[in-house]
Amino acid sequence: MQGKTPEFIRWALAHECPLRDFPKWTDPNRTERHLRAIRVYQNALKQDRVLNGLVVQPLETEVLDVEEILGFRVHDVFEFYGDPKAVSRTCESCPANVLRQTDSSAWVGCFGLMPVSEVVFPDLVRDVPQGVVDLRELLEEELQQNRLLGERIREVFDKTSPAWYGLWISRSPSAKQRNLQLKVLDKILERVPCRVTPPWDAFRRALRLSIEQDIPLHVQLVPEAETDGVYWFVDSHCGRCGARATSQTHTGTQCLVCKNEGRPRDPQRRFVRGKRPYWKMTRFLGEDGTREFLRKYKQHRGWDHVTVR
Ligand SMILES: [Zn+2]
Ligand SMILES: [Zn+2]
Repeated sequence: MQGKTPEFIRWALAHECPLRDFPKWTDPNRTERHLRAIRVYQNALKQDRVLNGLVVQPLETEVLDVEEILGFRVHDVFEFYGDPKAVSRTCESCPANVLRQTDSSAWVGCFGLMPVSEVVFPDLVRDVPQGVVDLRELLEEELQQNRLLGERIREVFDKTSPAWYGLWISRSPSAKQRNLQLKVLDKILERVPCRVTPPWDAFRRALRLSIEQDIPLHVQLVPEAETDGVYWFVDSHCGRCGARATSQTHTGTQCLVCKNEGRPRDPQRRFVRGKRPYWKMTRFLGEDGTREFLRKYKQHRGWDHVTVR
């Protein structure tokens, strides 16, 4: 996939559990890397893409090319956690599983990614999106009319301009800060000219849950980036507040958004997350094994019109 990725807030509720048994387990990025495959599996299960312990990628073509089809073994993904039943038991009673509020079957609902900028309207008119939303701009609009909120933000967070970036400097915001973050997000989401999307809703619920249940929340602002499909290029940005360093926002020795002294972070290049946990089925089943499996899968799905090649 090519193109730009928006600014994000990564978040994770910090509740210790057997599934989060890895170094720096409170880190939202690591949490996502470790637990994402479980969500991928649950998704596949809902879409009836699991057969005989194997998961198959979503398919829409009429011809299945044995060499190209991706999948994974359920066992390989769950090896580290026991099995799906064990995960289910852990997550069913977990106080940090906030996604369960909207999907009673959700596992590992303790982390997420909230897009901030260039969010395409979820409400389509004849399949065409009708615009984009930028939460940072909506906060500015709100603050122009709501001086009190601006004052509260300056009291509770480090001062930045625009105010948005100050909200996320602390990686583990205090209860007081989370209360105000929730209030700010409520105000912003009142202003979005479209439906509240599930990732926005999930973060709002996570903030609320973390306040009500007194569960620490870890947040991390991820700057806008570009991808060429293989790499992911993150522009030069302030290491403290995460704002992109442009001639307007950084002098080279000081960030004009948060006033932090020092050079901005150099542009970074990272590998795109890729297709994990999916990989070519022939790699673990062999060609004949894949062909045989796909014939059964086709039958299982009732796909009379599909050919396996
Ligand atoms: Zn949990
Ligand atoms: Zn800064």
